[in-house]
Amino acid sequence: MSDKILVVDDNAFNLKLLSDILQKAGYVASTTQDGSQVIKIVNESPPDIILLDLIMPNIDGFEICKLLKDNYQTKDIPIIMITGRTDSESIKKALELGVFDYIKKPIEEIEVIARVQSTLRFKEQLEQLKEMSLKDGLTGLYNHYFLIELFEKELTRHERTGQGMGFIMVDIDFFKKVNDTYGHQTGDFVLKKLSNLLTKSVRQGDVVGRYGGEEFGIVFANSSKEDAIRACERIRKRVENYVFNVSETDIRITVSLGVCYKEPNTTMTCQEMIQYADKALYTAKRNGRNQFVVADI
Ligand code: GH3
Ligand code: MG
Ligand code: MG
Repeated sequence: MSDKILVVDDNAFNLKLLSDILQKAGYVASTTQDGSQVIKIVNESPPDIILLDLIMPNIDGFEICKLLKDNYQTKDIPIIMITGRTDSESIKKALELGVFDYIKKPIEEIEVIARVQSTLRFKEQLEQLKEMSLKDGLTGLYNHYFLIELFEKELTRHERTGQGMGFIMVDIDFFKKVNDTYGHQTGDFVLKKLSNLLTKSVRQGDVVGRYGGEEFGIVFANSSKEDAIRACERIRKRVENYVFNVSETDIRITVSLGVCYKEPNTTMTCQEMIQYADKALYTAKRNGRNQFVVADI
């Protein structure tokens, strides 16, 4: 898919010139002459890069840049400032505000394309890094750090709306034996397959993450206690019935689950919910494994 570039310039001639250059190079260019519309346009259809004129009536490029950088949804969209000003102070200010690059007027086709290309390369690398820092390398699930961050966000949202939610801790039973019997690589394969199974067993709005080695955390959003219980039983059964087939060997595992359910309009911290779920999981293990326990709060 072609990269989308938004061009903002109050001058119709410049706007046409820039969008022609970009389109000729294969980019999808959208344009606006009205700086006050930028935030709305970007929120409705986020571009890959914004080419932003510095001097405009009503709202200038600096102001727009500040607004974009202050917004969580738009802060990572790279901005290339188009400026007639060549004084170092303006350029310094633009870079300090978080502008990625700048192009001086009069613009030259070859320079515009080169700067757009280098900005797109930077954006792609940034996205790769972001992906790597949020996801667990083996399973592709959210890692411990990001699971907790999303959990905290969900909890805040639930406290605001007064809805109930659950946190489920899942731990593979006797996983050490799988490693000891079939080897660590096979253990890794089982972890990957189980991650898919867990993701498929919950709704799209729920968050599944790798809490630790062979432990997973599920943030069960907008749910009743019965929903959370049903989800635990569904996961338990699916894992029990699933055959992990590795180089002609059939492996079966079971999991134990601990659930902490937060009733609507109650307050609890993430750490408290995790502790309750962990304690319930421990009880499930002690009671014989391959079962779930709901924390008594
Ligand atoms: P329990 O039923 O009490 O949970 O028993 P268990 O054997 O599952 O628990 P224990 O905590 O004794 O062992 C967990 C095992 O999980 C040991 C560790 O080597 C394995 N493990 C943790 N992370 C990974 C991983 O990334 N890959 C593989 N293959 N094994 C892992
Ligand atoms: Mg275990
Ligand atoms: Mg464990």
